[in-house]
Order: sequence, then structure tokens, then C-alpha cells
Amino acid sequence: MAGWLMPLEEVPDPVFAQRMLGDGVAIDPTEGCLYAPCDGEVTVLQPTGHAITLRAGDGVELLMHIGIDTVQLAGAGFDPQVKVGDQVRAGDVLIRFDLDSVVCGAPSVVTPVLLISQDGLTLTGKRGSGLVAPGEPIFTVERAGATAEAATDIVGETATRTVVVPLAHGIHARPAAKLREVLVPFAAKVTITKGEQSADARSPVRLMTLGIKLGDTIRITAEGGRADEAAATLAALIESGMGEKADPASATAPAPAPAPVAAPVSDEPGVLAGVTAAPGLAIGTARFFRLPELTIDPIGKGASLERARLEDGIAKVVRAIEADLSHAAGPMRSILSAHRAMLDDPELLEAARAAVLDGASAGQAWRQAIRPQAELLRQSGDAHLSERADDMVDLERRVVSAIEGVQDAPLVFPADTILLAEDMLPSQVTAIDPAQVCGFATVRGGPTSHVAILAASLGIPALVAMGSALRTVQEGETLILDAGAGTLRVAPNETQRSEAQARVDARMAALVAARAAAGAEARLADGTRIEVFANLGSVGDAERAVAAGAEGSGLLRTEFLFLDRETPPSVPEQTAEYQAIADALQGRPLIIRLLDIGGDKPAPYLPIAAEENPALGLRGIRVGLSHPQVLEDQLRAILGVRPIGVAKIMLPMIASVGELRAVRAVLDRLRGELGIGEKVELGIMVETPAAAATADLLAAEADFLSVGTNDLTQYTLAMDRGNPAVASGIDGLHPAVLRLIAYTCRGASTKGRWVGVCGGLASDPLAVPILVGLGVTELSATVSVVPEVKALLATLTLERARAHATAALACATAADVRRLAREFTA
Ligand code: PEP
Ligand code: MG
Repeated sequence: MAGWLMPLEEVPDPVFAQRMLGDGVAIDPTEGCLYAPCDGEVTVLQPTGHAITLRAGDGVELLMHIGIDTVQLAGAGFDPQVKVGDQVRAGDVLIRFDLDSVVCGAPSVVTPVLLISQDGLTLTGKRGSGLVAPGEPIFTVERAGATAEAATDIVGETATRTVVVPLAHGIHARPAAKLREVLVPFAAKVTITKGEQSADARSPVRLMTLGIKLGDTIRITAEGGRADEAAATLAALIESGMGEKADPASATAPAPAPAPVAAPVSDEPGVLAGVTAAPGLAIGTARFFRLPELTIDPIGKGASLERARLEDGIAKVVRAIEADLSHAAGPMRSILSAHRAMLDDPELLEAARAAVLDGASAGQAWRQAIRPQAELLRQSGDAHLSERADDMVDLERRVVSAIEGVQDAPLVFPADTILLAEDMLPSQVTAIDPAQVCGFATVRGGPTSHVAILAASLGIPALVAMGSALRTVQEGETLILDAGAGTLRVAPNETQRSEAQARVDARMAALVAARAAAGAEARLADGTRIEVFANLGSVGDAERAVAAGAEGSGLLRTEFLFLDRETPPSVPEQTAEYQAIADALQGRPLIIRLLDIGGDKPAPYLPIAAEENPALGLRGIRVGLSHPQVLEDQLRAILGVRPIGVAKIMLPMIASVGELRAVRAVLDRLRGELGIGEKVELGIMVETPAAAATADLLAAEADFLSVGTNDLTQYTLAMDRGNPAVASGIDGLHPAVLRLIAYTCRGASTKGRWVGVCGGLASDPLAVPILVGLGVTELSATVSVVPEVKALLATLTLERARAHATAALACATAADVRRLAREFTA
């Protein structure tokens, strides 16, 4: 193609820049036409027309990929002039494309031209930078014979080093990746041996299968070019501890890892013992749960096609997890964050991409990359690590399903089912309908697995690690699952059954009472009015919210309504969605938050250039202000909701009064244009310490303030809400966050404005009394907890809540606040 030639390293995508797909050059095109660089056969043409592979003689395969991330354009602007199987001559037109639309729609139009077959082939005579015209040579492909020099190199030097591993968690994925990095400048072949087993030091996945732990003695062997230096470098790096050095006492005498959970044994006939994963009592019918293994064709249909399928499958799962994350709270949130992080794991991604280059299909490549890691974790002998294998298995299935375009049939069971399974995956637990499944028990698993945490958060009693005895239960048998006692009684007699039934009934009665009373206005015991709203992401949520007794919605996450869109939603489309939700709320107030895109919430139709620090970059209202049409369209759509005023507007991520003023100016102009005289409330979210500190100034111009405790916690504590490494520290009950909420309430009250909470704290029973005591008068919670929040409020008085909040503000740590809160609600 005509354009500017540039070295591959300058391509703004590490996949190309680091030559993961092959060596070559890149061209920044000045015209929208790609010509055949040599004679050959078209072996792969992406259905979207943005990339093509040609096979020339002698095993030479060339990939030409027009632009970066252009797969997202879904073919728009590309017009292929050939099809797979065509024989072409050098200079024939392969693909015409609309340069302007690719420039506007993709992060870059730079086009890598790569040699993707590596079998003894090398590139020579690469042209450097500069203008290039079609037909000019840009490189030559040669079949290289092994040089005498290289051969001598390999036979030449051999060096070995023995090292005792000082890393607290041994050589897991990240250190393994670092080892490979330091070997980049060396030609030597380097292996690491533990006991009888060896692995290539450049393969993190294989290295992990050695299961190298703290205190293990390993041997490093380097052969060939600069062997001694390579072995010494690697040994020094490992001996340095790589930032994960165990303390000296444990390095010499490694603490034994907690053993995997062994199946407990029961002496009582008809009673199987298990380990409590989630407490509770259930009576139901045994039903076995088995998911068939997904069958995939292991052989790929060309590296570039399979690579695109792989990336696409991973991206789909990432999007699905991010969608769930945008409205998840508590343990669900940290588990989803961990899954999200695993999908970014460079070793995993690279292993899968390498498998694609080796000829595997996308699904097979992902499986091949992730399974050894899951297996390694399972066999680690460490209970916590082996429980993380569930997460790997889950991600294997989700990504393979996304690649293959298969969807597991929804999990439907008759009511009162007690599910029995070898193991459950986290995503399967979240797909369970608690109205059908009243408990589950698994042969394997552990009490701290994500499956256990999710079961607890869904309120489903569960037992794990029951061992093979569980397999002896017959399908259809009656079971009493007493998770608190760790027992599963098979075929109980009448007395045992009625005794258990009485206990189940008593527990249900309390919940039913909460649900029955949920229709009443939420008030404290002393009559103080507190509004209990629900957070929504769809019309379905709104219907469930009303049924659960929600008195309105304090947060509609609009970005969530249009998540899978490639193009921005139009004004009529938006109005229709908002109106449907307002209608489902049957006149109750609806607070519509403007699009909160950016940071942890990407939207395909509004791409934001890569940022070094996205949480501190273009997100929330900043996106709206930098895309005035998007902002105006959304405001117009909200003004279209009837009756006027039922839909209020809320601005995310406000950091200064100027942002509020800018939006109010647009809103006032639109109201004028549309002839709307009625008041349409405009409020702000308090999610930044800046907003909390200037609450009085903001309250002077905003109609209401609602605290987004998820982000306020992230920005106050400087801890990324999506980073599992700091997840344990992110607690909205941290005194710093509580003090900012107190400050917000004080500032708002000076201007007579109300303060609500729509972040995760509003759904946390330990936080609710403190928030009320601080002066919050509206709680917008997750739909499922609305009845409990209302029942809890009915037990409080404002006086008690205030005294409790004052004590919480004086606590030193989040743990102290939680302790105090537990004592308060006990
Ligand atoms: C929050 O930050 O607390 C909030 C409610 O917004 P989101 O979780 O959607 O960022
Ligand atoms: Mg937020």
C-alpha cells in the first residue's frame, strides 16, 4: 500500500510491536488500497475484510492487518476484492477500504505486514522509515540454513546454577513471566529443573507446572550463546526474591501449606458429613447436576482467523463480567474483579496466542493455556490455591463458550431442589435461581472458595468437600441439608423431617414478615421517614424492585442499558427505555444517572483512548462534557419521559461546581427549546473527596446529593476498586469514608438539600444504621435487600442511630467500625 513505512516496534499494539504474530514492517497508509505484495493464494480473509493472509511458495505466509482493533468496525469501510482460495499476482488489488472511516473508527490505521510462518524462514533487507509506493520492495523472505556459528554456540558453553527459592509463594505466574523477560537478550537455551522434572525457563505456563515452592532447590541449566551469563542472571534474579521474599524464618523452614479440605466422616447412619460453605437449613429433593464438556475442533483454520476468534471470545467474557461488575456489590464484586484480572493475565494470554500460532483452534488454544494452570493449582497441596482452580475452570468454560458461540441452557430445576454435584463453578452458582434450588452439596470444593462465598451472598445453604459418599445418594431422594451442622441427612424419617420443617418455617417467617411489611412506607421506630429505593439496570430490575417494596429508584445505571451497542443509542431509543422503566415504577421517582463511561466501565460505542490511569482520566461526567452531543442527546431523552419531573437527573463523578453548571446550562437551554416549564431536578453524585469537601458549595446549586460509596471509597483510600490485590482493604466503613459522608451531610443541610446513598454501603445491614445516624435520608439498595433494609430501619430510632454513628466516626479502622456495628445489630 502507499504510505509511510515504520518499524514494527512503533505499531501501537504490543501484539504486533512485540512480534507475537511474526516479524515484518508496518505502513501508515495514505490511500485506501491494499495490493498483493507477491504471488500467492488467499488462505484467510477475515469475514470483516480487515485482514488477509497470503500463502506464497516455500511455506511463506504473509499476514496483512489493516489498522489496529479494526475487527470492531465489523466490516464497515472494507471492501475485499478477492476471496479465500483465489490465486493472486503481485500488484493485484486485495482490499479496498475507506481510509477516512477507518481513521475515525479505529485507534490506528497503521497496517502491519508480517511473515507469520517461521519455519526456518527469515526476513532480510527490511526498509526503514519513509514514504513507500505500491510495488516497491519492503523486505525479502529467505530460507535460512543453520549457520556454523549458531551450531557451535549451542554445542559450546553449558552453565548450571543451583538456587534455593526464597519467594514466599514460589514461582507462580508473575515471577515466571519475569524470568522470561530477563532472558530476552540471551540466545542460550535455558531450562529449570526441580527433582525429575524440567521446563523451558522461557515458558511461564510450563514453569508453573513444576510447582516450585518456597524453599525448593532448583537447577538452572543454560546451553549455547553466553550460557554462563544467562544462568547467572536468572539465578541472581530468583535469589533476589523478585519482590516477594518470604521472611527469613519461613524461608529456611517453610510453613506447611494448609492441606486441601478432607471429607469429614459421620458415624450416624443415613447422615453424610460435609464442610459448611454457606450456612442455613433446607429440605428438598436430590437432583444431580452435570454439565457436558464442550466439544471443540482442536485444529485451527489459520492463525489470523483463530487469533481474532480468541480475542473476540475473551473480549465478550470481559464485557459480560464488566456488565455484572457495574452493579455488583460485596463479595460478588471482588470475585468478579478477580475473574476480570485473570483475563488480563499476560502469561495466560500469551500462552493462548502462542498455541494459535502453533495451529490450535481458538478454543483449543485457550483450553491448552488455562488447564495446566488450573491443574497446577489443584495439585499444589495448598487448600486456598486448589480452591482457586474453580475460577480457572470457570473461565475456561466461559471463554470457550464465547468463542464457539454456544450458550449453556439456563439452569432450570423443579422447586425444592437440593443440587448435588462433583463441583460447582462460580458462574453456575450465580445462575442458580434460589426460588428453585434451596441448597447444594458438592463432592469437592472448599469452604473459602468463591463458590462458597457466592452461595452465602445468595443465601443458599451449601456443603462442600463431601467426598465420594455423596455419589451414593439416589436421584429423587428426600434430603435435609443442615449446612450449619455440616450434615446431609438422606431419606429422613417423619420425626426428623417435621423437626427440620419447623426450623425452616421459623426462619422463613422472619423473612416473610420483612417482605410482607415491605409495602409500607419506610420509617424508623420513632416515625422518622427514610426513603428506601433500589438501584436499577433494566426494566426487569424495576419490576422486581416494585415487588420488593422499593419506593423508587435512587440510581438507574444508564450505561448498563446500552452496553453491547456498537453505535450510540438515539434519543428515541433512550426515551423508550427510560419511559419503560418509569412506567414499571408506576409513578415512583426515578433518578436517572447520566452515562458513567470510562474507568472500569468501557462502552464499545464511545471508545476512549488508552489512558495510563483510567480511574483518574476521562470518565463519568467528564466524558459527557467532552462529547457534547452525547450529553445533549441523553438530556433530551430524559426530558422526553412523562410525566415531566418523575425522572430526575444525576451526574456521576462530579469534582467541581463548574461541571454541574455546564450541565445545568445545557439542561436549561433544552427545556427552553422543548417548552418545558416544570422543574426537572438535577442532582450530583458524591464520589470524589473533592465533592464531599465542597458539599455545601455543590448543594447550593444541586437539587440533591447521592453518595456513591463504591467510588468514594476507591478515591479516598487510593485503592482501585477492581484490583483484587487491594480488595481486602476496600471497605466503605473505613472511618475516612464515613467522615466524608458526615461532612457531605453537614454541607448539604446548610443549603436544605437531602443526601442519599446509592453505593454498596446502602445494601450493607451493618452500614445502614450508621448512614442514617450521619444524616442520610434516602438509601438506594440492591433490589433483593430492600425488604430487609426496611425491616432493619423499623427497629431503629434516630437518637440511637446518631449515637452509634458518632461512635463509628471515632473508630480507628474499618475493622473497628465493623465490630462496633455487629455489636449494635446483635
Ligand atoms: C458508586 O460509585 O458508589 C456508584 C453507585 O456508582 P458505580 O458503582 O456505578 O460506579
Ligand atoms: Mg461510581
